[in-house]
Amino acid sequence: MANETRIKTVQCAVIGGGVIGLTLAFRLAQRGFEVAIFDKRQVGQEASWAGAGILPPINQRDPIHALDRLKQLSYQLHPKLSNELLELTGIDNEFQPCGGINLASTIGESAALSGSCELWTREKIQFKKLDHKSLVELEPQLNAFAETNFKNAIYFPEESQIRNPRHLKALIAACKKLGVQFHQECKVNSISTKNGLLELQTDQHRHTVKNVCVTAGAWTTGLLKDIGSKSEVVPIKGHMLLFKLPSPCFSRVLNEGNRYLVPRKDGHVLVGSSEEETGFDKSLCESEVANLKTFARGILPILDDSKLVTTWTGLRPMSFDQIPYIGQHSEIENLFIATGHYRGGLQLSTGTAHVLTQLISGEPVEFELNELRPER
Ligand SMILES: Cc1cc2nc3c(=O)[nH]c(=O)nc-3n(C[C@H](O)[C@H](O)[C@H](O)COP(=O)(O)OP(=O)(O)OC[C@H]3O[C@@H](n4cnc5c(N)ncnc54)[C@H](O)[C@@H]3O)c2cc1C
Repeated sequence: MANETRIKTVQCAVIGGGVIGLTLAFRLAQRGFEVAIFDKRQVGQEASWAGAGILPPINQRDPIHALDRLKQLSYQLHPKLSNELLELTGIDNEFQPCGGINLASTIGESAALSGSCELWTREKIQFKKLDHKSLVELEPQLNAFAETNFKNAIYFPEESQIRNPRHLKALIAACKKLGVQFHQECKVNSISTKNGLLELQTDQHRHTVKNVCVTAGAWTTGLLKDIGSKSEVVPIKGHMLLFKLPSPCFSRVLNEGNRYLVPRKDGHVLVGSSEEETGFDKSLCESEVANLKTFARGILPILDDSKLVTTWTGLRPMSFDQIPYIGQHSEIENLFIATGHYRGGLQLSTGTAHVLTQLISGEPVEFELNELRPER
């Protein structure tokens, strides 16, 4: 029998220290909650570290779906959180409204861009069509692309980015400053109810807590199945490449279809990504790496192998309908779930933490979460 540890003061245990769990822990701690984060590894090392940090432009008109409202709220909160973290920890997460360009190098992609203009107009997303000349004026390094591959391009001034590994570092430092307890290399094997409280079973201990929020990303399903939750999450692997240039040579995120190049302020360039359903296998696949190198060079020929620093993969947590599960468990009122953020967890983390903090504090929630409920 494992030892029993009672953390009497812990009002909320957060299971999973990715961007969702860390942002939530920070907000709860700011409200005076005693918070403990449990992570099976070191915190901030999984999908949230592996991602690119792109914050795409969002639907600005009256939102219809709760996901649009979450995007709007998150969009408003990113600059605020970045400033708070900088002030509290001195760590700059490099949040920047750098803008983005969607490129098309095939007729099909070009038609898809043109066809989307009506939707972006309806959604009041700012955009500008670029011809080949204005593209090169905006990003001179795209000269070779414009000469050979150009079919279409659209500029989005509101696209932004954060440097996610630094953002995570800042969140961890901020949580520590506010007294959040960290239980790392501490996998939670099960959650059960007892006398209105919740029990977490780890390999070493049993912890009794008042509230639990599951933010376990791609690993959520295994953790929730014993407690009768239907929130299925599927891991979707993505490959990333990191290049380093002597200095930055372009400043906007360059997107083509689902792939992109992201310029960091110090000359690093991230290139992503693939989408593969291969379970929890995170191994690198040479052909995926080769595909991304070809893609990157098609846009910026300067990115040859000599500039390649490293490659990695990460597991995106995908729900069955690609919409996150956010809310209270249908039968256990002190069990909360925030997972399944798929391709947008960095983007949606600020809004997710905000509404969950309201929910856990028993306050009115910013907007109706029904469409995001875990048991849908
Ligand atoms: C290649 C790639 C590119 C991406 N690009 C972007 C992007 O540009 N913009 C964007 O918004 N999003 C992007 N994403 C998606 C984004 O990274 C994810 O949606 C987000 O990181 C999910 O955050 P999370 O906290 O839910 O999961 P994670 O960061 O995976 O964290 C989950 C944590 O839970 C822990 N855990 C799991 N099970 C247990 C357990 N039983 N006990 C204790 N701990 C446990 C894990 O160890 C992990 O630390 C990308 C993802 C990938 C892989």
